[in-house]
Amino acid sequence: MPISVRTNAEWEQFGRDHTCRGLGRLYDEVVVKGRGLTLTTADGKEYLDFTAGIGVTNLGHSHPAVTAAAQEQVGNIVHMQCSIFQNPSYLQLIDRLLPVLPDKSLDAIYFWNSGTEAVEAAIKLARASTGRHAIVTFQGAYHGRTAGSASLTRSKPVYSKKTGPHMPGVFVAPYPYWHSLGLPPSTPEDVLVDAAIHQLDLVFRQQVAPLDVGAIFIEPVQGEGGYVPCPPRFLHHLRSLCDQHGILLVLDEVQTGFYRTGSYFAISDLGLRPDIMTFAKGVANGFPLSGIASSKALMDKFEPGTMGGTYAGNPVACAAGVAVQDVLATGEVKANVDARSEQIFTALRALQASPKTGHLIADVRGKGLMVAVEFRSNTDKLTHEGLAPGTALPQKIGSRVQNKCKEKGVIILTTSCFDTIRFIPALIVTEEEMSRAMKVFGEALNE
Ligand code: PLP
Repeated sequence: MPISVRTNAEWEQFGRDHTCRGLGRLYDEVVVKGRGLTLTTADGKEYLDFTAGIGVTNLGHSHPAVTAAAQEQVGNIVHMQCSIFQNPSYLQLIDRLLPVLPDKSLDAIYFWNSGTEAVEAAIKLARASTGRHAIVTFQGAYHGRTAGSASLTRSKPVYSKKTGPHMPGVFVAPYPYWHSLGLPPSTPEDVLVDAAIHQLDLVFRQQVAPLDVGAIFIEPVQGEGGYVPCPPRFLHHLRSLCDQHGILLVLDEVQTGFYRTGSYFAISDLGLRPDIMTFAKGVANGFPLSGIASSKALMDKFEPGTMGGTYAGNPVACAAGVAVQDVLATGEVKANVDARSEQIFTALRALQASPKTGHLIADVRGKGLMVAVEFRSNTDKLTHEGLAPGTALPQKIGSRVQNKCKEKGVIILTTSCFDTIRFIPALIVTEEEMSRAMKVFGEALNE
């Protein structure tokens, strides 16, 4: 049915009546077009999109090269049975990705549609290849919403010390947030790493024997958990722990890959070898595509026929993915991420230092263009260090600031943990767009 048959308001109501409220829909507006960072509603209203579809449309909405590649593929073939025939765009995308993976030992790639499916595949591969059931994840982790991936997800309080983990065989090691230990934001990384190592040791002594653990799953920068970068020293510690006990290290780069954090993958420059890496979101700029990378020897632990899905590695999504990698290969996106990252951190730290807004901001953190502001509010008592005694703090600030920004034409997101706003614009965001968004954010904070 064409969009004009109902008014915008009627479509909004239709959506409320006939789709799942489990999504937690925030704004009932119908968006009909996206170009670059600009979203246009059915009413012709324009918004500056600082969410990039939750870090997906890294090259901006409807990037011309990606659209052209997808259109050409649609003209050739849209779908095929990839367990019977080879699909050129599937193979071309593997060929583009192999040289940019963070470690040479990762020499095999398998595609799915969503990040969650890639995580499910990694869980299955880890358990099947090690014969061990337990998996360690971290407080604040987000790996998806299907049964297996949700069992590794801790960015909502699904775990209680009294009841234990809600899925058998899955254990949680508390990963220290900047504030969860009552430490100020300027705490040296070493303190955090030592605390995390200590907590992990406790988990291995009290909750699960390392020899029962098949894998440790970690996001190099926790996404839904509040944009918390993991200290590299902790990641290297996990690597040696895994080597010591025959555990697989799984890096979930679903949100952090494809220059989101300033390098191709967040761990690209760390000299770290994951056993399995998951990726999705930015790989095809909005076309549903995800994958896992591992050594061929490990991936071949899957018996033929035990992996895959009807739409997995769809030719159109793969063709879009090839176009994305070709744009990234020019180096222009990386250069822009570096420049805009510096711009956004400078602007946010100025707001943190300002007497007008500084008392509201507990922390500015992130990497590249995956940036968060954590607020001091009544809802999070742990973030009040450094405040003058008796300072009155407002109730949860993030969603109010988010609404204010929308009124002023800028779309931003909160995260599931803490009272936090996150900025994940397309990586092609211009200096002017960044300035505009920061000005609007500053005004919203002041109000
Ligand atoms: N893993 C991480 C780190 C994510 O950030 C997400 C989604 O936000 C997922 C997995 C799940 O991916 P998807 O929503 O594509 O299923």
